[in-house]
Amino acid sequence: MAKYIGAVDQGTTSSRFIIFDQRGRIVTLDQKEHRQIFPQPGWVEHDALEIWDNTQEVIRGALAKAGLKGKDLAAIGITNQRETLLVWDKRTGKPYYNAIVWQCTRSHEICKQLIAEGGQDRFREKTGLPVATYFSGPKIKWVLDNVDGARKAVEDGSAIIGTMETWIIWQLTGGAKGGAHVTDVTNASRTMLMNLHTLDWDDEILGILGIPRQGLPRIVPSSDSESWGPTEEDGPLKARIPVCGALGDQQAALVGQACFRKGEAKNTYGTGCFLLLNTGETPVPSNHGLVTTLAYQVRGEKPVYCLEGSIAIAGALVQWVRDNLGLIQTAPEIEDLAKEVDDNGGVYVVPAFQGLFAPYWRPDARGVMCGLTRYANKHHIARAVLEATAYQTKDIVEAMNKDSSVALSRLKVDGGMVANDLLMQLQADVLDVPVIRPKVSETTCLGAAYAAGLAVGFWSNLDELRQNWEEDKTWESRMSEEDRAAGYAMWGKAVERTLNWLE
Ligand code: ADP
Repeated sequence: MAKYIGAVDQGTTSSRFIIFDQRGRIVTLDQKEHRQIFPQPGWVEHDALEIWDNTQEVIRGALAKAGLKGKDLAAIGITNQRETLLVWDKRTGKPYYNAIVWQCTRSHEICKQLIAEGGQDRFREKTGLPVATYFSGPKIKWVLDNVDGARKAVEDGSAIIGTMETWIIWQLTGGAKGGAHVTDVTNASRTMLMNLHTLDWDDEILGILGIPRQGLPRIVPSSDSESWGPTEEDGPLKARIPVCGALGDQQAALVGQACFRKGEAKNTYGTGCFLLLNTGETPVPSNHGLVTTLAYQVRGEKPVYCLEGSIAIAGALVQWVRDNLGLIQTAPEIEDLAKEVDDNGGVYVVPAFQGLFAPYWRPDARGVMCGLTRYANKHHIARAVLEATAYQTKDIVEAMNKDSSVALSRLKVDGGMVANDLLMQLQADVLDVPVIRPKVSETTCLGAAYAAGLAVGFWSNLDELRQNWEEDKTWESRMSEEDRAAGYAMWGKAVERTLNWLE
């Protein structure tokens, strides 16, 4: 068998291709950013063709860097920014519209109406999710209702619908020549259209949203020994390699962190921040603003579920400080800026740029910076920016402890922001639990590689994957209980100031 596994990570900021060896170590990596398109406040789009071009480029780039060929890979896995939605013509591969990014709030009116008619939790029992602009279902409805010809094309079978893994798998396996139209259970669980218990599209919800079933992809396990097709000989891999693993990025990180046991949790700090807790083979409903979602499914085995706390803006706040305020040139500089001071000087930033996700689910919220005095300077602001991520995570952990009735005892972390030592220390301080970073911080790609490798027998079971996990660094709390409580109380006040802004 070939010696390596390849994984595409189609992320919010960039697309990557990483090649892993049997020990789960990175052999080579290539990455390319794509444009963020903001047509109006609250709207976010990506050019799906640019993303596919970048994906091909990074696959070729990574292979070339390591002097490898496509045939050196035993299988390909995909992980992706979740909920981002595309409708395209399956005869030409031409999108009907830009991909509508998970952060986009254009479906606000659609969601408002759904909530007015049946309440925010009307689909929670079936889907595990509250009605929110975040999920793909309302985005699909927006495209079908607003883009010329889209609904008719879906109805007559010439257009198809998918999230980003669906798009990339379709392209890799032949595209307009007959690419596979599939979505894995974890991505499907983010549409607000899939029934968590049956793992099938729910006809009642499809009816309420007016989404034709025939346009939707086939739902498949995350690790699938019945490969969705080989890659194309004339594609970027120049070889026929089975595509047989797919996981939404957060679930991929959970798998990459080897959180296979009930009670194990990880937090990923990227554009947003996502804390997932493995709850085993039964879906645990949330009463405290978390969502119940699929963790992963291996073909032939029972699905595994998780509770998730989703934060919309984490690293994106650092990008905003870089791009919109110009206080820093690169994201890592935020740490140097923040280190100049010992505390936040009373400043709190709540980045409710497109409302607040978990545990609040308030689309009417907008961001605030508060506690300003003439004493406050850019260093305090930088610190408050990092604290915003730590405190948003604290909100999630509080909710999770209530929902699962087992207090979190340690947190495995990953994602672009975990390079930031100060943030990791702040996180351990505000949570008062050890924060642990693994050696391979590219856990998202690793999870997708694991899903694909398990399907073809490159790895034989989850225990083998668990043995690959190695600790790099642990941060312990250094904060007094008094300071922790006082800081968190101020954070709560700052959050209150974001609410009802649009009403
Ligand atoms: P995604 O997968 O969501 O595209 P990544 O995991 O690549 O995100 O992380 C990128 C995000 O992390 C960006 O939003 C960036 O601003 C932030 N980031 C990267 N490095 C640092 C750092 N050293 N300190 C703080 N934020 C950082």
